[in-house]
Amino acid sequence: MKIKMSHGAGGEVMGKLISEIILKNISKKSVNGGIGLDALDDGGTIPLDNYEIVLTTDGHTINPLFFPGGDIGRISVAGTVNDVAVMGAKPIAITNAMIIREGFNSDDLEKIIKSMDETCKEVDVALIAGDTKVMEQDKLDGLVMATTGLGIVEKGKAIKDSSLEIGDKIIISGSVGDHGMSLMAFREGFEFETDLISDVAPIWGIVEKALKAGTITAMKDPTRGGLSNAINEMAKKSGCGVMLQDDLIPVKKEVKAVSDMLGVDPYEVANEGKVLMGVTSESAEQVLKGIRKNKYGRDAEIIGEVIEGKRVLVETPVGGTRILEAPIEDPVPRVC
Ligand code: MG
Repeated sequence: MKIKMSHGAGGEVMGKLISEIILKNISKKSVNGGIGLDALDDGGTIPLDNYEIVLTTDGHTINPLFFPGGDIGRISVAGTVNDVAVMGAKPIAITNAMIIREGFNSDDLEKIIKSMDETCKEVDVALIAGDTKVMEQDKLDGLVMATTGLGIVEKGKAIKDSSLEIGDKIIISGSVGDHGMSLMAFREGFEFETDLISDVAPIWGIVEKALKAGTITAMKDPTRGGLSNAINEMAKKSGCGVMLQDDLIPVKKEVKAVSDMLGVDPYEVANEGKVLMGVTSESAEQVLKGIRKNKYGRDAEIIGEVIEGKRVLVETPVGGTRILEAPIEDPVPRVC
């Protein structure tokens, strides 16, 4: 088999590659009974005394390196910090490896590093180690990065993406599809017709507010494959169904417009500054209020609830119900 673009696209095809080639061949996948590779969660954990270290790692191949609303520097920090945050842990530090193409402009590199710094400062995260490599002109497309994130959570308090309970409410922290759609619009040359920008942002502030306000049962950042992929993964791993309300899911009108133009479902494209969570029904309103106090969570909504069953369903305003499947692959390659 030859690796195809779809093997890195976050859908079912990638899932198969992970289970059949990667998981099968790795012997030790967890430490001290913490969350390990098998869980395929946003990060792993290592229990130590009264705490758990949360560790996650992320590759960044986004094209182009500078896009409306961000650049590879911001997305590398945000993406990594967010995977730590959705484990319920305060992000503390990251490391960063860069592989740069020979001939790359050092001014652009400095812009990217400054952007990383700005994003780190937003959530008080330090960059504590790194690696820099250069490859020949014809062997690499610009710049790729790999970032590792570390956070800390009280022992037993890490939040998985597999622990939804029937009756929980589902909250999304804001509008869906902004990142994927803005990137597609930009690549297709529509950037002058729309002021749509990526939502790329570190969301620890949202999670912190939500944790204080109520009980989060499960959490995930809806990146590649978008809302459809994230909610299906959470439901499947938790062994339950989900009923979403179509008219409650926030979608910006610019996103809707681009999505109609390109024929791509906004529920299926990446978000880079959003959190999807299950919360107990008693605390849902309080959590929503808390999230909305954060600048990145102002458009948060309760969009559905966890039900018995195995499917993710969407109820339309006219009363019909359709199945929301996980996409086979992300319709947009190299978005993160
Ligand atoms: Mg994630």
